[in-house]
Amino acid sequence: MMNKNIKPFISVLILLLLCGCAGLPRLRDVPSFNINNRNYYSLISLCEELEVDFDFDIASGKVVLEKDDNAVTLAINYSWMIVNEKDRKIRSAPIVSEGVVLVTYETMRIIADTFLKKDVRKTAKMFLPKKIKRIVVDAGHGGKDPGAIGAYGVMEKNVNLKIANYLYNKLRSFGYEVLMTRRSDRFLSLAERANIANNFNSDLFISIHANANHSKQMNGFEIYYCGDSLEDSIRFIVEEENGSLANTIDYRQAVSLGNQRIENKLNSIGIAESICNQVCAAGGLNVIGVKSAPFYVLRYTTMPAILIEAGFLSNLEEEKLLADDNYCYLLAEKIALGVNYFKDRKFASNE
Ligand SMILES: [Zn+2]
Repeated sequence: MMNKNIKPFISVLILLLLCGCAGLPRLRDVPSFNINNRNYYSLISLCEELEVDFDFDIASGKVVLEKDDNAVTLAINYSWMIVNEKDRKIRSAPIVSEGVVLVTYETMRIIADTFLKKDVRKTAKMFLPKKIKRIVVDAGHGGKDPGAIGAYGVMEKNVNLKIANYLYNKLRSFGYEVLMTRRSDRFLSLAERANIANNFNSDLFISIHANANHSKQMNGFEIYYCGDSLEDSIRFIVEEENGSLANTIDYRQAVSLGNQRIENKLNSIGIAESICNQVCAAGGLNVIGVKSAPFYVLRYTTMPAILIEAGFLSNLEEEKLLADDNYCYLLAEKIALGVNYFKDRKFASNE
């Protein structure tokens, strides 16, 4: 292991002092490489063209680009980037080849557009990620609030608690300190749930839910992290889960509140992707993937936080599956494996 006085990262700072009157950067001058039949471009060369500071933290795989008040954060092997505090999905993740950070043309254009723009945004600060030790598992709904109810009468609150209990045990067996927001069929407000996670000083918050949709065809497993995306399809779910609070919340303002730290967001996305990969690997289940939405419990928790929609109770097949103990156990196991796998990834830990 490295001496702990030596910070496990190498920063590269490029300040081009050469030219005062920079013309339009010539993107075609950025060296390109063909890897697996895809063209990649050298990020550091792009930064030279744009006169942007380039900081690559090898330990975490994170790249922070800054100039004036604009900032872009990318992470190696993550198909997400954060552009001035707003997250963006990209088709292909940045990679490292022979020590050089490479991005696709799409990513290069986004970066170029960001730093060439005149409008000034708040600088994105860089936070170091924490190691995951303490986890709060939240079984959604409960007591007087049943959540979604399937055609056979399966109640979301019971499915959530069952998966949460299995998840609690599995995570504990991996050595995490775990706290559940509820262990029985009782009502808890959304604020109480967020407070429990914040007071426990947890490193990760996992809220378990089951979905419902007007369309009985809709099925699959999906995970949300905190974001401002509110497509109509997502608005319905958010209003269902946020319950009576839905009408009192200014969703747009929500973006600037709560769990919006870049580090939390990147870790939330990373954990969500890791869990989806595990569930995918189990086979036989439609994994919809990772999405963002302003769920209350994600906004008001101050650590990486995800909300899992384990399946659709409005779909007859999935209602049957979610009523099955073995199926819920398998799901919980995959969720725990996804968390544990992410914990071992360098991105989640500096230690
Ligand atoms: Zn729910």
